[in-house]
Amino acid sequence: MSLMKREEWYDLTRATNWTPKYVKEDELLPEEMSGGRNIPLSTWDSYDEPYKVTYSEYVGTQREKDAGIYSVKAALSRSKFMDNVDPGWEAIMILHYGGIALGEYAASIAETRMARFSKAPGNRNMATYGMLDENRHGQHQLYFPHTYTNKNRQWDWAWKSYHTNQWAAVATKNFLDDIMMTRDAVATSIMLTFSFETGFTNMQFLGLAADAAETGDHTFASLISSIQTDESRHAQQGGPTLKILIANGKKEEAQQMVDISIWKAWRLFSVLTGPIMDYYTPLEHRKQSFKEFMEEWIISQFERQLLDIGLDLPWYWDEFINDIADKHHGMHMGSWFWRPTLFWNPTGSVGIEERKWLEEKYPGWNATYGKCWDVIIDNINNDKEHLTLPETLPVVCNFGFLPLIQTPNKTRDKNKLIDYQLEYEGRLYHFNSEVDKWAFQTDPNRYKYTMTLVDEFLAGMVQPPDLNGALAYMGLTPGEIGSDAHNYAWAKEYK
Ligand code: MN
Ligand code: MN
Repeated sequence: MSLMKREEWYDLTRATNWTPKYVKEDELLPEEMSGGRNIPLSTWDSYDEPYKVTYSEYVGTQREKDAGIYSVKAALSRSKFMDNVDPGWEAIMILHYGGIALGEYAASIAETRMARFSKAPGNRNMATYGMLDENRHGQHQLYFPHTYTNKNRQWDWAWKSYHTNQWAAVATKNFLDDIMMTRDAVATSIMLTFSFETGFTNMQFLGLAADAAETGDHTFASLISSIQTDESRHAQQGGPTLKILIANGKKEEAQQMVDISIWKAWRLFSVLTGPIMDYYTPLEHRKQSFKEFMEEWIISQFERQLLDIGLDLPWYWDEFINDIADKHHGMHMGSWFWRPTLFWNPTGSVGIEERKWLEEKYPGWNATYGKCWDVIIDNINNDKEHLTLPETLPVVCNFGFLPLIQTPNKTRDKNKLIDYQLEYEGRLYHFNSEVDKWAFQTDPNRYKYTMTLVDEFLAGMVQPPDLNGALAYMGLTPGEIGSDAHNYAWAKEYK
């Protein structure tokens, strides 16, 4: 049998389109799902994905990738690596799987929406592979942590977290619901694949793979590198969409989608990736501070990409750049203080050497965050642990679902927290910044019904209305509740 050469048939198959005869265009591709924004169907034919692959090539590569990670896992299964590793790394792993595994599965639904409803045939083609990608590495990230469930119940949160009201899981779900589960195909390709995957997760995964290799966790390093090759391919779906929108007079709308999703992704990064890089990673394994990582990989990358594609930098860019040197320190201290509400064991990790590193990387750290840690350290060393534990709930942002944070000792009113408020249809909303408030106001109908943990608490949904009631509400049971990963060894250095 003679076969046609790839180049003879590829362009025809990747861009197959047809004119519907039996149904109207908007019955086949309804606006709510497709998001064509009155751009003619024929214009979407010009969508040109930068990454070209055929189905048989795709399947062959994926099979090899699977064989690679499973053989590494099998070869290292007797190494007892996780039994001897620094507890900070174990916390990173538990947080990674709990934060991400089920989000990957959900992402395959977002890909499916593009595969079925995108008006661009090239996008439908790419998204079919994207759907298979997310399904593949969603399964891996449930299977790999399963190995450790006999060690510690927290590992089970890879499955459990998205089914609970635990606050970090809620913030993550809220973000993913907003950018990928409740948007049309066009918005999904921009907010999920362009902003979040190209901008944030792709870089995060490269960084994590390097950190894992440095720490000696070669099973995880090979897994995460394998996932990253999936992501870097299907993350390229948003660029061609943006080009079509900009060329057809929809730049302003495209810009707004990018601005909202970058900001919300940043907020999540500040509470998850920031503490991981600057606190949980053992000092000797830190290659770069979180700020240096953000500057090199996110800021400079993104600036170039946004401008190349014909967009502007988000209007809040200066605030974003200031934030990357600051916000995650507050997120770390806050999440450590509310450690019983976590499904991983955070480490305070502000021992004498760590502190020198923090001051060097973040001049002024001692005079701001350091002062607060001094109080915590004193309490630990004077047998007043109870004063380092929470009895109340923090004020939570109605847009990002994360606590309101502010640099200590820095503002005119010292430690007075700034709550950016908005009264809308008789309800008072709280925001962490002007940007969060602005994002809410771009589409109040989308955001106005949301309930944060504090809203639920005030509505009487948390019973009894105290910390124990809140822990039960969040699904945290004994053996899962977070405590300091190093049992305060870093604080005892000051004794
Ligand atoms: Mn993924
Ligand atoms: Mn993805």
